[in-house]
Order: sequence, then structure tokens, then C-alpha cells
Amino acid sequence: MKALIKKDTTKTLTTHYIDGVFVESHGREVMDIIRPTDRQIIGRVTLADEEDTRRAIAAAKRAFTSFGCSTKEERAEILRRLHEAFAARIDDLTDVMVEEYGAPAVFCRAMMESAANIFLSAEKALYELPLTRSWGKTTVTLEPVGVAGLITPWNANSFFLCAKLASAVAAGCTAVIKPSELSSLQTQVWLACVQAANLPNGLCNVVIGRGDVVGAEIVRNPDVAKISFTGSVAVGKSIMRDGAATMKRVTLELGGKSPNILLEDVDLDKAIPTSLAIALMNSGQACVAGTRLLVPKTRLSAVKEAIRETILNFPVGDPTNPKTAVGPMVTQKQYDRVQTYIRKGIEEGAEVLVGGEGRPRGLEAGYFVKPTVFVNVKNDMTIAQEEIFGPVLSVIAYDNEDEAIRIANDTSFGLHAYVNGTDVGRARQVASQLLAGRVAINGLVDDQQAPFGGFKNSGVGREFGTYGIEAFLEPKAILES
Ligand code: NAD
Repeated sequence: MKALIKKDTTKTLTTHYIDGVFVESHGREVMDIIRPTDRQIIGRVTLADEEDTRRAIAAAKRAFTSFGCSTKEERAEILRRLHEAFAARIDDLTDVMVEEYGAPAVFCRAMMESAANIFLSAEKALYELPLTRSWGKTTVTLEPVGVAGLITPWNANSFFLCAKLASAVAAGCTAVIKPSELSSLQTQVWLACVQAANLPNGLCNVVIGRGDVVGAEIVRNPDVAKISFTGSVAVGKSIMRDGAATMKRVTLELGGKSPNILLEDVDLDKAIPTSLAIALMNSGQACVAGTRLLVPKTRLSAVKEAIRETILNFPVGDPTNPKTAVGPMVTQKQYDRVQTYIRKGIEEGAEVLVGGEGRPRGLEAGYFVKPTVFVNVKNDMTIAQEEIFGPVLSVIAYDNEDEAIRIANDTSFGLHAYVNGTDVGRARQVASQLLAGRVAINGLVDDQQAPFGGFKNSGVGREFGTYGIEAFLEPKAILES
């Protein structure tokens, strides 16, 4: 009898990108890449160690001696090449994000288009930012800070890499990059784009590895001047603490528990679909998700009714299907985390309006959870205070606008906020009183020139536009007698 030979379609990744070439990993640890829709192993990646990381840092340091002196025009030219290279591979970037990470295809495509465009936004911002100012006998120049360590999470890895690299390049910094190790296949396609952009050797170096190995080496290495990090509050705090030993400049983009205020005069036909989209975007694994819906008591029953009907338009399932709104969680760990919070919400006395514990029927193979909306939530409950990072929305009722503002600001986070109302003047008034790095009125609006980042535990510093570039610059004054 002939033995059945099953073709192995898993991808094997064994290299890092250092000094413009792919080099075999010095680190030997191998990690499986698991597809979240069916828990199949789709790849294996050999993770970097401290030695790989030090080689990447050394390459970035060598490249900085020339790139640090580049002109605006030279940087702009590189940004345009990066834009073209990424714009040409939107389909591939989208497909690999859907497969490895599991976010709905429509969301992934929008993110990857945004990623390609952010290089042009950085170019525009670069030309708007004066790098030299002088008065009297004083001249101030904004100098690139040096080698930048860029560290990203798994929930939109390629987008964050593009946003950070764009600002670093615009500032004249070279980079050593540690993508999320859970995004290794996505990083391969990302690197193919970087290669196509034909950058100077050593400008962009990428080492795939664990946070406590590669990330920790980047944070403690004295040849790295700056860390731009997106990820959890706990790791952000450790980077700030450990980076102090070498006086690292840090930009930290951390978590959120964003309020979404529905004002008394809100049009629910518009606001409920928008609010569910804001809560469930990226399957709820979004730092900017509006996960606390603040509703006037007078409109509460209408809101509940509208949510019950509208949630049917947000199906959970196969992320390759363009109709799917919510895909699986990224890992077993993330699945367990979301389940723990749903259980906690029930234990603390919140009422499940839709969803609940367990997997949706027919989706038992993957890390799928039920999109869940809680009502009767008090703002001091765990589900209203902690970032769940899954498709779980808490509806909180309020008596008057002052109370809505107080509840909105009663959080340790301050990344994003949302206000919905028919009278835009009134919505602006409310927005002006919210403690958040960004407040969107009547919808999910983005502007790549506007600063992105948070108050309080949501982080330190800002990305995007001139604000993002300034974070990679150091002012230097020359004073003549
Ligand atoms: P994480 O903090 O665990 O990991 C983020 C990155 O840091 C990964 O690359 C990881 O390997 C690395 N890392 C881990 N330990 C490290 C260490 N000791 N030193 C250096 N690097 C280390 O976060 P995650 O689980 O990948 O992502 C989810 C979190 O990211 C959520 O809390 C979410 O709110 C946050 N997030 C924030 C934003 C934002 O812009 N504010 C955007 C997306 C996600």
C-alpha cells in the first residue's frame, strides 16, 4: 500500500534583515505560527537572540553616520519610494494579515492602504516642519536623535511599522525594528516592500524575536537613542523604566478604554451602526475601540432595541468573507482573556444584552468569541475600567451631560473619545472637556497629520504628522557672542 504523502505548506522563516540583506538567525529558538481561524500551524519562525539584535543595532549605527546628514529632499525621495513599494503590494499585505492575524479582510485592506499613504503624509509634514530657525545671533536646528528602536504589537503590525518608519526616516534616523513575533509572516511581506524601495543599507533593520530578548536588548543598548513603542501599558512602563539607564527618548502608544458619548439629541439610526463599528473594529482588538457607550437614561430603551437589531449587521466568522465584521481573536491567550472579562462582567452584575460566553455556533475550530454587549454597567466595574481588547461593549447610562463628561473622564486611560449628536456645536463643547489625545465627532474620523497618542496611562508623546517627526528630533541651539 502506498503511504499517503501530505504536502507540507507551512512556511519556514529563518532570517532577519540586517544591513540591507537577509541573514540567517543566530538565535535558535523556533516558534510555531498558528492560524487563528482553525488553529492550524501555518509557519515556523526562528527567533532572534541578543547577538542578532546587536548586529542590527550596529548596522543602524553605521548607516546613521551618513543618513543622519541627509537633506529633506533625500528623505522625501525615500518616503515616496516606500509609498510606491507598499502601494504596489496592498493585496499581498492584506491577504497575509487576514491569514496570520485573522482580522476581517475589509478592515485589513483599509489599514494597509492607510499604511502605504502614511509615507506621503510624512513627506508632507516634513516639508511643513522648519528644521532650522534663527533669530539675532541664535540658530536652532532640529537634529535626528540617532538610532531609533521601533517596537510594535500584533493587532496592526504592518501599519504601525510603516507609521513609525515614516516618521523616523523623515527625521533622518535609522531604525532597528522589532515587529510582534506573532506577525512574522506579515513582516516577511512588509520586508519585501522595504527591499523594493531600495533603501540605503542599514537604514531599516528588522529582527524578529521575543520582547524579553530582542526588545529588552534594544531598550538597554546604549547605541539606541530613542524607542518608539506601541503595545501594552505594562510593557510601556518597563521600557520607560529600563530605558532610563541610557536616557532613552521614548514615545509610548499604549492602551485605551475609550468613551463614546451619545448626546440627548443623537440620531440613533446613524449613531448605533457607527458606535457598533467603533466598538467592534479590528474584531475589538483595537486600542482606539470605543468600548464604553454612554447613553442618556431617557434614550436607553431605544438604544437597547437599536443595538439588538443592528448587531445582526456585524456578523462574526470567516475573515476572508467581505461581509464579516468580526474575526477570531489572535491567539488562545487572547481568547481566554476575553472570556475571563465576559465572565467577570456577569459576576459583577452587568446584564448581557447580546452575545455572552463561549464560541459562536459553527465556529468551534478557531479563536472566535461572541460579540458581546453589556447593559446595566456601572463605570467602576472591571469591564468598564480595564482594556479587554476584544469585541465587548459596555453600555453605561447617564442623567445629564455633566455626568456623561465625568464618567467619560473617570478612567486611567485617555487615548481616544467619541461624541455623537445632531447639534455639532454642543458636541464640540463636550469634546473640549474630554481628556483624550483624540476626540472624534459623529463617526470614526482619521487625519494622518493630526497627532495620535494618549493622556494618562495611554502613553507618552505623539505620532503622525509633524508631531510624529518631532519625536525623533533633538533641538540644538548655536549661540554666537
Ligand atoms: P505587548 O506590550 O505585549 O507587546 C508589544 C510589543 O512589545 C511586542 O513586539 C512584544 O514582543 C514587545 N515586548 C514585550 N515585552 C517587551 C520588553 N520587555 N521589552 C521590549 N519589548 C517588549 O502588547 P501586545 O499584546 O502585542 O498588543 C496589545 C496591546 O497593545 C494592547 O494593550 C493595546 O491597547 C496596545 N496597543 C496600543 C496602540 C496605540 O497606538 N496606543 C495600538 C495598538 C495596540
